[in-house]
Amino acid sequence: MNDISRLTISAEATLHDALRQLNETGQGILLLVDAAGKLLRTVTDGDIRRLLLAGHLLGDRLGTLPAMDSLVACEGISPDSALELLNERQLDHLPVVDAMGRPVAVLLRRELDQRILLSTPHLGEYEMRFIKEAFRTNWVAPLGPNVDAFEHELAAYVGVSHAVAVSSGTAALHLALRVLGVDRGDTVFCSTLTFVASANPILYQGACPVFIDSEPESWNMSPGALARALADAATVGQLPKAVIVVNLYGQSADMEQINALCDQYGVPVIEDAAESLGATYKGRASGTWGRLGVYSFNGNKIITTSGGGMLVSNDAALIDKARYLSTQAREPAPWYSHSEVGYNYRMSNVLAGIGRGQLKVLEDRVRLRRVIFERYRQGLAAIEALGWMPEAPYGRSTRWLSVCVIDVKRTSITPGEMISVLSRGGIEARHVWRPMHRQPLFDGCAYYPHEPDYSFSDEAFATGVCLPSGSNMTAEQQERVIRVVNSLFQPMKVRLS
Ligand SMILES: *Cc1c(COP(=O)(O)O)cnc(C)c1O
Repeated sequence: MNDISRLTISAEATLHDALRQLNETGQGILLLVDAAGKLLRTVTDGDIRRLLLAGHLLGDRLGTLPAMDSLVACEGISPDSALELLNERQLDHLPVVDAMGRPVAVLLRRELDQRILLSTPHLGEYEMRFIKEAFRTNWVAPLGPNVDAFEHELAAYVGVSHAVAVSSGTAALHLALRVLGVDRGDTVFCSTLTFVASANPILYQGACPVFIDSEPESWNMSPGALARALADAATVGQLPKAVIVVNLYGQSADMEQINALCDQYGVPVIEDAAESLGATYKGRASGTWGRLGVYSFNGNKIITTSGGGMLVSNDAALIDKARYLSTQAREPAPWYSHSEVGYNYRMSNVLAGIGRGQLKVLEDRVRLRRVIFERYRQGLAAIEALGWMPEAPYGRSTRWLSVCVIDVKRTSITPGEMISVLSRGGIEARHVWRPMHRQPLFDGCAYYPHEPDYSFSDEAFATGVCLPSGSNMTAEQQERVIRVVNSLFQPMKVRLS
């Protein structure tokens, strides 16, 4: 609905012209504009029918239509407010005008009514069974048989020996830093192209983050940048206590290279696999390549417990320590005995029930997300200015989010513009993560770009757009997204349907 020129009509046009244009565009509405392109009123089939019944002729000009106050919204109106307006006035179309009063879009009730979100929970048929069991046995507590089983089942799925289920991915990352002994004044390296949750726990510990850029091949930690950062740190005798490697948007980082570098300096790796559960690297599960791995089951992730996380490792001592810290660091004694600071980070037995059900459909969800990505790639293939986040040859990405890249040399359309045009159509899209070294929160922290004079993450942020990718999105909804993007980039080639 963004090829607005097809819907506009001038006062010089006849009723017959209007009927033909209504028929061709099929939207049930035209926008009557003056010579300056300013919106005068809307014109519907019903308006023309009433004119004909009142004795007007098909050859009469639209200018003879009586003036009418049409419902109009200003640019920037939120989809929710637009829907509210339409409901209030019992209308199906809402023209949107810019500051000059010129139409820029028409919002449709049927599209606003079913907004397409970035990534929503997709429940299966098994979750309720585990939740009911928790209720039946009154295990409605942070601990219980679902928690134990979820830990075992997830550990078996990814192929590690130990796992502890916690209240969030962020909590799992915090515990990972604690069990590796990260403390006030220490340094921790972290991927810069990520969600802030990857880096916040470094600050919880009073440690100092150093941000590492991504490489273009995988959008994940650049081994070249990491090598320079480690060499510099060794020179000044300030090696990091840990390196947090993020696996972005469903794809593993190049873990063998990163591990080899870190091993050289004896620095442990924490894999932030919050976005990559279900992905593989060289045939083995993403999240199992570091000393510790972290998964998230937040509502937007590939599987969810509404909120939750898991810390995994093949090192039993590390997971035992994390489990102990996650339950207020309570020591074995007949009374409450504590000698270090702990947290209330355990997962609830009810939520673990959701997780057990979700784990059963994880493979299917990976398959569906990959299908969605392919449909975007094919549906938008005609746009030369649009590229895609690559899939590195060493593994399987889950395509947790389908991320496209705008070639700024071929178009003046920006990610911000694309996101707001989609938003007007009731479609949620997002910028790629704004890099951590650009966040005011981390002002003054060191940063190592991919090449000494080239920062990949800045480019990804400036050009990338995450498209709706939920595994429960229908093919029809996805067609809607594809249609809006196509009409934005090639308005002349697309017919309104
Ligand atoms: C979602 C996410 C987290 C945090 O997980 P929560 O369960 O929301 O705390 C951490 N890192 C990355 C990269 C994420 O996308």
